[in-house]
Amino acid sequence: MPSIERDRPSALSPAEESALLRYWLMRDGALGRFAREQWPAFGICNDVLLDDFFGKPVRHPPEKVHAAVGEVFAFIQRELALIGKGERLEGKLKEALWVAQSDAAKAFRLSVGTAGEAKRLQAAAAGGTPLTVCVGRRLRRLPQDIGDQLDPLGEVEEYRIPTLTWIRNGDGCGIVMPDEDRSRFRWYCNRCRKRTSELKDKAIRNVIAGWEVRRFRIVGRDQLGNRVDGWKVRCDKCQQWFFARVLQARTCPQCGHRRR
Ligand SMILES: [Zn+2]
Ligand SMILES: [Zn+2]
Repeated sequence: MPSIERDRPSALSPAEESALLRYWLMRDGALGRFAREQWPAFGICNDVLLDDFFGKPVRHPPEKVHAAVGEVFAFIQRELALIGKGERLEGKLKEALWVAQSDAAKAFRLSVGTAGEAKRLQAAAAGGTPLTVCVGRRLRRLPQDIGDQLDPLGEVEEYRIPTLTWIRNGDGCGIVMPDEDRSRFRWYCNRCRKRTSELKDKAIRNVIAGWEVRRFRIVGRDQLGNRVDGWKVRCDKCQQWFFARVLQARTCPQCGHRRR
Protein backbone atom coordinates (compact mmCIF):
# COMPACT_ATOMS: atom_id res chain seq x y z
CA MET A 1 0.00 0.00 0.00
CA PRO A 2 1.52 3.32 -0.98
CA SER A 3 1.85 5.57 2.04
CA ILE A 4 0.83 8.98 0.91
CA GLU A 5 0.81 11.08 4.03
CA ARG A 6 3.57 9.58 6.04
CA ASP A 7 3.28 12.24 8.73
CA ARG A 8 -0.44 11.55 9.12
CA PRO A 9 -0.69 7.80 8.50
CA SER A 10 -4.10 7.38 10.07
CA ALA A 11 -5.67 10.42 8.45
CA LEU A 12 -6.62 8.65 5.26
CA SER A 13 -8.52 5.45 4.64
CA PRO A 14 -7.14 3.07 1.99
CA ALA A 15 -9.90 4.17 -0.38
CA GLU A 16 -8.97 7.81 0.11
CA GLU A 17 -5.28 7.06 -0.38
CA SER A 18 -6.12 5.26 -3.56
CA ALA A 19 -8.27 8.12 -4.84
CA LEU A 20 -5.56 10.65 -4.01
CA LEU A 21 -2.84 8.71 -5.73
CA ARG A 22 -5.06 8.22 -8.73
CA TYR A 23 -5.60 11.97 -8.82
CA TRP A 24 -1.85 12.58 -8.74
CA LEU A 25 -1.25 10.10 -11.52
CA MET A 26 -3.86 11.88 -13.59
CA ARG A 27 -2.52 15.30 -12.83
CA ASP A 28 1.17 14.67 -13.32
CA GLY A 29 1.24 11.48 -15.33
CA ALA A 30 2.95 8.42 -13.95
CA LEU A 31 6.34 10.04 -14.20
CA GLY A 32 5.18 13.20 -12.46
CA ARG A 33 7.46 14.43 -9.74
CA PHE A 34 4.66 14.55 -7.21
CA ALA A 35 3.53 10.97 -7.78
CA ARG A 36 7.15 9.86 -7.55
CA GLU A 37 7.83 11.68 -4.29
CA GLN A 38 4.58 10.68 -2.64
CA TRP A 39 4.75 7.06 -3.68
CA PRO A 40 8.06 5.61 -2.48
CA ALA A 41 7.61 2.28 -4.28
CA PHE A 42 7.15 4.01 -7.59
CA GLY A 43 10.09 6.28 -6.78
CA ILE A 44 12.33 3.22 -6.41
CA CYS A 45 11.22 1.83 -9.80
CA ASN A 46 11.86 5.23 -11.28
CA ASP A 47 15.37 5.38 -9.82
CA VAL A 48 16.15 2.10 -11.59
CA LEU A 49 14.99 3.49 -14.95
CA LEU A 50 17.01 6.65 -14.41
CA ASP A 51 20.15 4.73 -13.42
CA ASP A 52 19.77 2.63 -16.55
CA PHE A 53 19.18 5.68 -18.71
CA PHE A 54 22.40 7.28 -17.45
CA GLY A 55 24.34 4.02 -17.67
CA LYS A 56 24.96 3.88 -13.92
CA PRO A 57 24.79 0.84 -11.63
CA VAL A 58 21.37 0.47 -10.04
CA ARG A 59 21.41 2.27 -6.70
CA HIS A 60 19.01 -0.15 -4.93
CA PRO A 61 19.54 -3.83 -4.09
CA PRO A 62 17.40 -6.26 -6.14
CA GLU A 63 15.32 -7.32 -3.10
CA LYS A 64 14.27 -3.72 -2.56
CA VAL A 65 13.34 -3.28 -6.23
CA HIS A 66 11.48 -6.59 -6.16
CA ALA A 67 9.37 -5.43 -3.20
CA ALA A 68 8.73 -2.01 -4.77
CA VAL A 69 7.63 -3.53 -8.08
CA GLY A 70 5.28 -5.87 -6.22
CA GLU A 71 3.79 -2.90 -4.42
CA VAL A 72 3.27 -0.92 -7.63
CA PHE A 73 1.68 -3.95 -9.30
CA ALA A 74 -0.61 -4.44 -6.31
CA PHE A 75 -1.75 -0.82 -6.45
CA ILE A 76 -2.36 -0.83 -10.20
CA GLN A 77 -4.17 -4.16 -10.07
CA ARG A 78 -6.37 -2.98 -7.22
CA GLU A 79 -7.22 0.20 -9.14
CA LEU A 80 -8.04 -1.69 -12.34
CA ALA A 81 -10.17 -4.21 -10.43
CA LEU A 82 -12.07 -1.32 -8.81
CA ILE A 83 -12.64 0.28 -12.21
CA GLY A 84 -13.70 -3.08 -13.61
CA LYS A 85 -13.03 -5.23 -16.65
CA GLY A 86 -14.73 -3.90 -19.76
CA GLU A 87 -14.86 -0.32 -18.50
CA ARG A 88 -13.17 2.33 -20.60
CA LEU A 89 -10.56 4.76 -19.32
CA GLU A 90 -9.80 8.03 -21.00
CA GLY A 91 -7.10 10.65 -21.08
CA LYS A 92 -4.31 10.79 -18.58
CA LEU A 93 -5.62 8.10 -16.28
CA LYS A 94 -5.57 5.55 -19.10
CA GLU A 95 -1.97 6.35 -19.87
CA ALA A 96 -0.79 6.86 -16.27
CA LEU A 97 -1.99 3.50 -14.95
CA TRP A 98 -0.43 1.69 -17.89
CA VAL A 99 2.85 3.59 -17.71
CA ALA A 100 3.18 3.03 -13.95
CA GLN A 101 2.75 -0.72 -14.47
CA SER A 102 5.04 -0.79 -17.48
CA ASP A 103 7.76 1.20 -15.69
CA ALA A 104 7.62 -1.15 -12.72
CA ALA A 105 7.92 -4.13 -15.08
CA LYS A 106 10.91 -2.54 -16.77
CA ALA A 107 12.59 -1.84 -13.41
CA PHE A 108 12.07 -5.51 -12.56
CA ARG A 109 13.70 -6.68 -15.79
CA LEU A 110 16.61 -4.31 -15.31
CA SER A 111 17.51 -5.39 -11.82
CA VAL A 112 15.60 -8.46 -10.66
CA GLY A 113 14.65 -11.02 -13.28
CA THR A 114 12.96 -11.92 -16.53
CA ALA A 115 9.76 -10.60 -18.10
CA GLY A 116 8.14 -13.96 -17.33
CA GLU A 117 8.96 -13.55 -13.64
CA ALA A 118 7.59 -9.99 -13.72
CA LYS A 119 4.36 -11.34 -15.22
CA ARG A 120 4.08 -13.93 -12.45
CA LEU A 121 4.59 -11.21 -9.87
CA GLN A 122 1.83 -9.17 -11.54
CA ALA A 123 -0.51 -12.19 -11.54
CA ALA A 124 0.21 -12.77 -7.86
CA ALA A 125 -0.47 -9.11 -7.10
CA ALA A 126 -3.81 -9.45 -8.89
CA GLY A 127 -4.67 -12.63 -7.03
CA GLY A 128 -4.73 -14.66 -10.24
CA THR A 129 -6.10 -12.72 -13.21
CA PRO A 130 -4.16 -9.54 -13.92
CA LEU A 131 -5.79 -6.67 -15.74
CA THR A 132 -4.36 -3.97 -17.92
CA VAL A 133 -5.63 -1.11 -20.03
CA CYS A 134 -5.56 -0.80 -23.84
CA VAL A 135 -3.26 2.20 -24.04
CA GLY A 136 -1.95 1.61 -27.56
CA ARG A 137 1.05 3.31 -29.02
CA ARG A 138 2.19 6.55 -27.49
CA LEU A 139 4.95 7.25 -29.97
CA ARG A 140 5.15 6.50 -33.67
CA ARG A 141 7.98 6.69 -36.10
CA LEU A 142 6.87 8.50 -39.23
CA PRO A 143 7.59 7.05 -42.67
CA GLN A 144 10.89 8.13 -44.17
CA ASP A 145 9.14 9.83 -47.09
CA ILE A 146 6.90 11.98 -44.85
CA GLY A 147 8.92 14.98 -46.06
CA ASP A 148 7.57 14.47 -49.60
CA GLN A 149 4.09 15.12 -48.26
CA LEU A 150 4.93 17.86 -45.79
CA ASP A 151 7.32 19.76 -47.98
CA PRO A 152 6.91 18.75 -51.63
CA LEU A 153 8.98 21.68 -52.85
CA GLY A 154 11.88 20.94 -50.53
CA GLU A 155 11.87 24.41 -48.99
CA VAL A 156 12.07 23.45 -45.34
CA GLU A 157 15.30 22.65 -43.57
CA GLU A 158 15.76 18.93 -43.13
CA TYR A 159 15.79 19.14 -39.34
CA ARG A 160 12.32 20.71 -39.33
CA ILE A 161 10.72 17.63 -40.88
CA PRO A 162 9.40 15.49 -38.03
CA THR A 163 10.50 11.87 -37.78
CA LEU A 164 8.39 10.94 -34.76
CA THR A 165 4.98 11.80 -33.47
CA TRP A 166 3.75 11.58 -29.89
CA ILE A 167 0.20 10.39 -29.50
CA ARG A 168 -1.37 12.08 -26.55
CA ASN A 169 -2.42 9.43 -23.97
CA GLY A 170 -1.93 6.63 -26.51
CA ASP A 171 -4.06 5.53 -29.46
CA GLY A 172 -5.66 2.51 -27.77
CA CYS A 173 -9.36 2.44 -26.90
CA GLY A 174 -8.78 2.52 -23.11
CA ILE A 175 -10.73 -0.63 -22.27
CA VAL A 176 -9.76 -2.49 -19.09
CA MET A 177 -8.90 -6.02 -20.22
CA PRO A 178 -7.23 -9.22 -18.99
CA ASP A 179 -3.44 -9.26 -19.27
CA GLU A 180 -2.98 -13.00 -19.39
CA ASP A 181 -0.01 -13.39 -21.72
CA ARG A 182 2.73 -15.26 -19.90
CA SER A 183 5.71 -13.11 -20.62
CA ARG A 184 4.42 -9.96 -22.25
CA PHE A 185 2.57 -6.93 -20.95
CA ARG A 186 -0.16 -6.12 -23.45
CA TRP A 187 -0.76 -2.63 -24.74
CA TYR A 188 -3.51 -3.27 -27.31
CA CYS A 189 -6.81 -5.10 -26.89
CA ASN A 190 -7.67 -7.66 -29.59
CA ARG A 191 -9.89 -5.22 -31.43
CA CYS A 192 -7.31 -2.40 -31.52
CA ARG A 193 -4.55 -4.83 -32.49
CA LYS A 194 -6.51 -5.62 -35.66
CA ARG A 195 -6.65 -1.97 -36.65
CA THR A 196 -3.04 -0.95 -36.06
CA SER A 197 -2.49 0.02 -39.69
CA GLU A 198 -5.58 2.21 -39.52
CA LEU A 199 -4.23 3.82 -36.31
CA LYS A 200 -0.89 4.38 -37.99
CA ASP A 201 -2.53 6.06 -41.00
CA LYS A 202 -4.54 8.24 -38.65
CA ALA A 203 -1.40 9.35 -36.81
CA ILE A 204 0.24 10.28 -40.11
CA ARG A 205 -2.88 12.15 -41.26
CA ASN A 206 -2.84 14.10 -37.99
CA VAL A 207 0.78 15.11 -38.50
CA ILE A 208 0.05 16.29 -42.03
CA ALA A 209 -3.09 18.16 -40.94
CA GLY A 210 -1.23 19.87 -38.10
CA TRP A 211 1.52 20.87 -40.43
CA GLU A 212 -0.89 22.30 -42.98
CA VAL A 213 -2.84 24.23 -40.42
CA ARG A 214 0.27 26.15 -39.44
CA ARG A 215 1.22 27.32 -42.91
CA PHE A 216 0.52 26.77 -46.53
CA ARG A 217 1.58 28.29 -49.78
CA ILE A 218 -0.60 31.03 -51.25
CA VAL A 219 -0.32 33.83 -53.79
CA GLY A 220 -0.75 37.32 -52.43
CA ARG A 221 -0.59 40.87 -53.80
CA ASP A 222 1.66 43.64 -52.66
CA GLN A 223 0.50 47.27 -52.23
CA LEU A 224 1.00 47.89 -55.96
CA GLY A 225 -1.14 44.92 -56.88
CA ASN A 226 1.74 42.79 -58.04
CA ARG A 227 1.53 39.09 -57.55
CA VAL A 228 3.77 37.76 -54.78
CA ASP A 229 4.28 34.20 -53.72
CA GLY A 230 4.19 33.63 -50.02
CA TRP A 231 2.81 31.65 -47.17
CA LYS A 232 -0.31 31.76 -45.13
CA VAL A 233 0.98 31.32 -41.61
CA ARG A 234 -0.67 31.11 -38.24
CA CYS A 235 0.98 33.42 -35.71
CA ASP A 236 2.63 31.60 -32.83
CA LYS A 237 1.64 34.39 -30.44
CA CYS A 238 -1.83 35.65 -31.34
CA GLN A 239 -2.94 32.68 -33.49
CA GLN A 240 -4.14 35.03 -36.29
CA TRP A 241 -3.46 34.06 -39.88
CA PHE A 242 -1.13 36.36 -41.75
CA PHE A 243 0.65 36.53 -45.04
CA ALA A 244 4.39 35.98 -44.94
CA ARG A 245 6.92 36.22 -47.72
CA VAL A 246 9.20 33.72 -46.03
CA LEU A 247 8.33 30.30 -44.69
CA GLN A 248 10.40 30.86 -41.59
CA ALA A 249 8.10 33.58 -40.29
CA ARG A 250 6.39 32.52 -37.09
CA THR A 251 4.82 35.67 -35.70
CA CYS A 252 2.68 38.27 -37.44
CA PRO A 253 3.83 41.88 -38.00
CA GLN A 254 1.63 43.05 -35.09
CA CYS A 255 3.35 40.68 -32.68
CA GLY A 256 6.73 41.47 -34.17
CA HIS A 257 8.27 39.36 -36.90
CA ARG A 258 10.55 36.72 -35.63
CA ARG A 259 12.52 34.18 -37.56
CA ARG A 260 13.67 30.90 -36.25
ZN1 LIG B 1 -8.41 -1.29 -27.57
ZN1 LIG C 1 0.43 37.76 -33.91
